[in-house]
Amino acid sequence: MSKIKYYYNTKTLRYERYVESWQKKLLRVLYVIATGVVFATVVIILAYQYIDSPKEKQLKREIANLEFNYSLLNEKLDRIEAVIQDLEQRDDNIYRVIFEAEPVPKEIRQAGYGGVNRYKMLDGYAYSELIKQVTRRVDRLAKRTVVQSKSYDEVWQMVKNKNKMLASIPAILPILKKDLKLQINTSGFGYRIDPIYKTVKFHAGMDFVADVGKPVYATGDGVVEFAGADDSGYGIHVIINHGFGYKTLYAHFSELKCKQGQKVRRGELIGLVGNTGKSVGPHLHYEVRKNGEPVNPVNYYFSDLSSEEYLQILQKANQPGQTLD
Ligand SMILES: [Zn+2]
Repeated sequence: MSKIKYYYNTKTLRYERYVESWQKKLLRVLYVIATGVVFATVVIILAYQYIDSPKEKQLKREIANLEFNYSLLNEKLDRIEAVIQDLEQRDDNIYRVIFEAEPVPKEIRQAGYGGVNRYKMLDGYAYSELIKQVTRRVDRLAKRTVVQSKSYDEVWQMVKNKNKMLASIPAILPILKKDLKLQINTSGFGYRIDPIYKTVKFHAGMDFVADVGKPVYATGDGVVEFAGADDSGYGIHVIINHGFGYKTLYAHFSELKCKQGQKVRRGELIGLVGNTGKSVGPHLHYEVRKNGEPVNPVNYYFSDLSSEEYLQILQKANQPGQTLD
């Protein structure tokens, strides 16, 4: 820069020393500075763009680590979901079936959290979706676990009730097999000929022919709801309430062996066979009622009959003969 420059002056026709004005000098300096600043800025921008600072390198490693851990978390969630799905299926298809309970509705099992967007606070970040997805899965799992746990409580209640239910539901013959005169007459449930009016009438129970004085037994645990005689045609009869919607009726007794309000166990003596009320010969008229409706008692003897005996009773009961009422 400090080179001395000359120029040819056309007026004086001489070479003269060139002297730069201070303004020009200043301009030149400023120009050099400006160029430097622009160049430096470009270099810095490029450096920031393509070369990480140590801080950035560390942050990036942490993000990579987080992403990796979230993917591990998702895999674990897959496994937990598979386990709870298995529990739910076994619950619906085995436990609840055994106890004749409806499966838990799918909408209840799969319910998430509706209404307001409860994941709003997770919005607005680069990884919002990832975090929301995992959070949602965890929430749903927590809810499914609670539903399943409640269902097991119900099943446990049913287990406890089932023992009582099994003892209560009528399940034996009301009369000893050896006392039965199967070969003479056993009149079944359904439309049968009325012994007195000789018209077809609905027979709500089953008639067991036996001699007067033969013992009659309660067919399940329960409470004696009625023991006595009225003008119903049943003569001296007993009604036992077994709970769970079941009642049994034993009619035409010659003698009562239980009292109203008494608790009875299955197999307990409640009366003796007779011929009281609307009856055309000594027999026991036996009814089973489920939720107030008479049902075919033949389906409630499974406990103490061999398959041949059961078949024999079934065949006799299905013959369209005359009842003894
Ligand atoms: Zn009858």
